[in-house]
Amino acid sequence: MNSREEVIRDGLVVVDDNRGKIEAVDEYENKDKYFCDELYGGSGFIILPGLINTHTHIPMIILQGAGAGLTGFDWLRTIWLLESILKPRQVYVASKLAIALLLENGVTTFADHYFYEEEVAKAVEETGVRAVLAKTVIELSDYAPKHSLEDSLNFALRYKTGGDKRISGMIGVHSLYSCSLDTLRRSAELSESTGLRIHMHFSESLHEIEYISRRYNTSPARLAQEIGLLKLNPLLAHATYLSDEDVEVVSRYKPCIAYSPFTIMSWGQGIARVRELLDRKVNVSLATDGPVTDGDLSIFKQMKLAVAAQSSRYLKPNALTPKELLEMATIRAAECLGLKGVVGSIEPGKYADILVLKPSKARLVGLHDNPYSTLVMNVNSGSVYMTIVHGRILYHNGVFKSIDVEETFEKVVEERSRLLEEAGLRHL
Ligand SMILES: [Zn+2]
Repeated sequence: MNSREEVIRDGLVVVDDNRGKIEAVDEYENKDKYFCDELYGGSGFIILPGLINTHTHIPMIILQGAGAGLTGFDWLRTIWLLESILKPRQVYVASKLAIALLLENGVTTFADHYFYEEEVAKAVEETGVRAVLAKTVIELSDYAPKHSLEDSLNFALRYKTGGDKRISGMIGVHSLYSCSLDTLRRSAELSESTGLRIHMHFSESLHEIEYISRRYNTSPARLAQEIGLLKLNPLLAHATYLSDEDVEVVSRYKPCIAYSPFTIMSWGQGIARVRELLDRKVNVSLATDGPVTDGDLSIFKQMKLAVAAQSSRYLKPNALTPKELLEMATIRAAECLGLKGVVGSIEPGKYADILVLKPSKARLVGLHDNPYSTLVMNVNSGSVYMTIVHGRILYHNGVFKSIDVEETFEKVVEERSRLLEEAGLRHL
């Protein structure tokens, strides 16, 4: 995933775990040039940049299964009702459990958007993963927790400089349909004056298209342009529905798009025009959305679904190539999150966010002559052997190094029962 698109057959990656950085990338035969305390690997391992999930709401793992069978605003109403009674401590334990799931899926960085986001930040700090966090602002709901735009801005400002870049912040406006025009305009002004980017849902469902048309007599793309949001390099989740004119508008400003095919398709919604956006140099990355709709947070699954969905939409195979998909899960995603010089490829000087796979032999028949296709079409999350973030091994052969998964799981299940009881429900 570096600019020279190098694939090394018998490779060696040297990591300085004190600095958290990649020190060297070399041929394995040169290993004696380096002094290393520990050596991992062997025949049949594959080393990749850590995968990046550019839009999720990880604490929603506690709501797994909620809203099944509903779509659009009906789904949102069900979820917001539950979120109105959600407690910060529940967001914290749920985040830790979801981070374990991300790590076993080989995800090293995620962009999150949720309520009580300082609890997600605490879980990120403790577990060692990398994240770009946004505190959600919703106004036009009677139920969801209320954070003001200033609150969201102050949260993001706390992480603006990024320090070692393990946590950075964005402004978390929920969507065009759930915030007032005044708030949307002010968020654009604040993004411009502070340099903080906006992470929001955008043109995700037919319900949104109808609502924006009824309320503002325009499309989400044209409304975002008019408010001044599109020119600010926002991170936009979905972009499911764009007219020909909308594609032109979006392409003019080139915002970053987070594409999560599983959630949107299983919601009964359509397929985004990803091929056309990429052809117009709009950066599109992959995402899972929250684990309430996609309970396994797997970017490998999104890659496979994106191949199928885009090929079906454009009625031609390989509408997205395996190489493009791997880029959308790594280097393009890093660019979408403002981390291109930091992670997304295995290069000396970048932070050591690395995924090691050990797939079964049956998945590797074409590896050497067709590595991209093998990785995207044949390998899955079950092949993840080791996940390294910032030079630290966080997951190794089924063992989590920074999370007590059993204890965290028990707490999440306990908190879920409390939530159900408070909501007067027997199940979700
Ligand atoms: Zn979302």
